[in-house]
Amino acid sequence: MHKAFGNLDAAWKEASFAYKSVPFFRSRPALTPAASPAAGFLDIPMTSKPDYRKNFPAGVLADGRSVNDPYVQRYQSSGTSGDRLVSVIHAFKLADRMANCLSVNKSLSFLLDEPKIRMCRYAAPNCSDVECSNPNTSMEDRILQDGTLVLPVYHDLLTTPEPMLKRAFEELHSYEPNVWYVDPMHLSVLIKKARASGWKFDMNRKVSVLLTYTFATQALLRQLATLCEGHFPVASVMAMSEFGFVGLACEEGNLHLNDKDYYLEFIQMEAPDDRDDLWELVITSVGDRLCPHIRYRTNDIYRLLGKCKCGSTMPAVAFQGRMKDLVRLPSGRYVTPGELDALVGAPKWIDIFQLTFQKGGHFVFRYSGETEPAADELATLRSKLEDLLESKALRMEAVQYFPFERGGKFQLVRTG
Ligand SMILES: [Zn+2]
Repeated sequence: MHKAFGNLDAAWKEASFAYKSVPFFRSRPALTPAASPAAGFLDIPMTSKPDYRKNFPAGVLADGRSVNDPYVQRYQSSGTSGDRLVSVIHAFKLADRMANCLSVNKSLSFLLDEPKIRMCRYAAPNCSDVECSNPNTSMEDRILQDGTLVLPVYHDLLTTPEPMLKRAFEELHSYEPNVWYVDPMHLSVLIKKARASGWKFDMNRKVSVLLTYTFATQALLRQLATLCEGHFPVASVMAMSEFGFVGLACEEGNLHLNDKDYYLEFIQMEAPDDRDDLWELVITSVGDRLCPHIRYRTNDIYRLLGKCKCGSTMPAVAFQGRMKDLVRLPSGRYVTPGELDALVGAPKWIDIFQLTFQKGGHFVFRYSGETEPAADELATLRSKLEDLLESKALRMEAVQYFPFERGGKFQLVRTG
């Protein structure tokens, strides 16, 4: 099954441009004219991260363009070093994509009128485009090309030393950003620390909080609401180092993907029954004359939500996780981080949780929070998890600490 959103003619034009003017595409068999653009487009072979990694820069840039051109910005994906992907995006393209994404959420519309978007980024070190997001550097060392200040972070978030948290807290104020571009887990840690230490956030500012990098679970959203509700609008962003902004959550809390700057295709994943309604997003850029992406597999998995109450015409989706974060049960069904989050919800006794699949079909559900669950609450969650996992080989464990992946990322569902 295949579904698509956006302007197919524009996507076809983009592909025609790429096959004519970009060496990597030119080396492939030429596009064949088809009876209809729809049929012809589906015949174009998909691309993926390794294509862009191997051919960067000369192979994937349009003829005559260079990474050193004015307004060309460079982004690096997170991931292990051999897996890193460098992308370049024209600053105007980035701005258009961001503006169209912001337009789905009225509480953020003030940003479109601000003279400049000024961001502070607070996330795992590997996600930051500066190698020096450590506290021994000055603020100036951590300001990116686009003016974003990267706050100092420790590789192991939950053991971050107090002076580093204090510094992040202070810079969030002194840099006077209008966007906090943050990993929700990092912000929740800072909020807790500030509360415990009597540091007061200045809430009399015009700030919006955009959440990205790791899954914004309902439990994390509940913690962020304790600070932000009624003061700072909070919305999840879908961003990729290859594209910049791809989607944004509306005021109903549903993520809408931008079908104006991209042609969006969804490819359904095979499944044993119709309870699994999972789709991989495939993106074609529109009007990118620097580094066009054609039928680019994102490896990101979504559910499609249909019409959203907010009225936006951009497709509403629920992000389920990366392909590699999905775990397949013996029955063939997938368990996704999104499904797990929906099931756990936001009870007061859970701040952070993680599900681990161990060898031999055993599961461990670890959780931490500031209060203890009542026995019946724990039993109810356990039985829901058993249903989801189609197994009773499940251990529930209250913990104080969670291991983070290399590079400082947190995984909601992991194997090991
Ligand atoms: Zn909506």
